[in-house]
This record gives sequence, structure tokens and C-alpha cells, in this order.
Amino acid sequence: MLNVTHIDLGGCEGCSVALLRAMLNAKNCKFKSRLTGDFDADGEVVMVSGPICMNDPEKIEMLKELRKKAKLLIAFGSCAAVGGITRYCRGGQQPKPHHMTFQPINAVVTVDYAIPGCPPSPRMIQPFMNALADGKQSNYIQIFKAVTKVKKLSGFDLIDDIVLQNICISCGACVLSCPTGAMHMVSGKPDLIVEKCIRCGTCYVRCPRASQLLIRRYLK
Ligand code: SF4
Ligand code: SF4
Repeated sequence: MLNVTHIDLGGCEGCSVALLRAMLNAKNCKFKSRLTGDFDADGEVVMVSGPICMNDPEKIEMLKELRKKAKLLIAFGSCAAVGGITRYCRGGQQPKPHHMTFQPINAVVTVDYAIPGCPPSPRMIQPFMNALADGKQSNYIQIFKAVTKVKKLSGFDLIDDIVLQNICISCGACVLSCPTGAMHMVSGKPDLIVEKCIRCGTCYVRCPRASQLLIRRYLK
């Protein structure tokens, strides 16, 4: 049984809802969340959603404290894991944040696993939690360890690393997993509608080629 606690640093709450839904059905986890009012930072596993605001010293301090206490710190969702859509944040009111204001949490602390997704689907969360509870270092869980080493991941990277290298097998997993329809097939190969890409990184981790590349590059 895993003791899991969740804290949101200020995202859109989509990840919080996805996590709560997934955890309601989890049989192998005792789950607490700041959203449900029973948060404590002493959980074995701490899940952090939302990006870290580099203009907010209090949040930075809190994140460092969480790192000290947690046995495993997990960046949950694209904003916490790879920056995601908050990379584009310019702010509509003072003080206006800049592009570099919101960062993935690995800009401040070391992270044990990072799960991209806007939000991550229950089909990604459940096998991850099962693997974590079983203590098995399968390829599936290793992908999320490798993602902790990157500070950005997007459809642009997928096109560069896989399609332009001619190692794409045209399986379509990137297209099916894209939450915005930014990835689509053209003449049997994926192509990116750049204006639609929110840099969530989902297509990269769901691509069988790219995920293996990530593991080889950072873990082997
Ligand atoms: S192409 Fe889609 S899945 Fe890939 S990073 Fe962009 S929005 Fe995310
Ligand atoms: S998921 Fe990877 S291998 Fe499959 S179509 Fe997309 S880029 Fe090609």
C-alpha cells in the first residue's frame, strides 16, 4: 500500500481532477490531497501538479521542503513535468509574467518520475501506480524516469527526433494521444500543426520509437 499525497502549485486543476478520479479507484494507494483538505507532506509519494512560478519564493521554498520530506517526488501533468502550456504565459495583468516565469519543477528540485499529459489519462496513471506499488522497473515506468531529465518535450521534438530521422513506423499513436489535434497524418506520416501544439509532450512519451530513444539517451 502506497501513501500518496497530492499538491497543486497553481495549474488549471485539470491534472488535479484527473488524479482524483484515478485515485478514487486505486486499490493499492492511500490518497490525500490538499484539494480535499487532508494534505500532509509526510506521504511516501508526493505528486505535484502545476508549474513552479520562478517569481514566487514561497512556492519555491515549499517545493524544496516537499523534496526533503518525500521518498518519491513525482511531477504530475505536463506543466509540472515539462512546462506545458504555461510556457506560453504572458499574463494579462501586472505583474506580467514572462515566458521563463513558469518552469517544470525539475528547474528547482530533482524529481523521481515525471508524467506528461494535459492531463495524463487514467490509462496512463493506473499502470504507473501499479508498477510503483509492485516496485517493478518495467520499460513503462522507466519512460517516466527518463522524462525527469528533460526540461521540454513537444510535437516539435517528435518531428525532429523521429519523423525527420526516418524511424517513424506510422503507427499513429502520436495522433491518437494528442489532446489538441495538433498532430495529424499526411501521406502516412505524422505532421504538426504548429499553432495547435501546447508542448504537453504526450505524443513523445506515447510514441514507441521516441519513448525508447528517451530511455536510451538518459538511462542507459
Ligand atoms: S503535438 Fe499534441 S501531444 Fe504533442 S506536444 Fe503538441 S499538443 Fe502535446
Ligand atoms: S507514434 Fe511515433 S512511430 Fe508512431 S506515427 Fe507517431 S511518430 Fe511515428
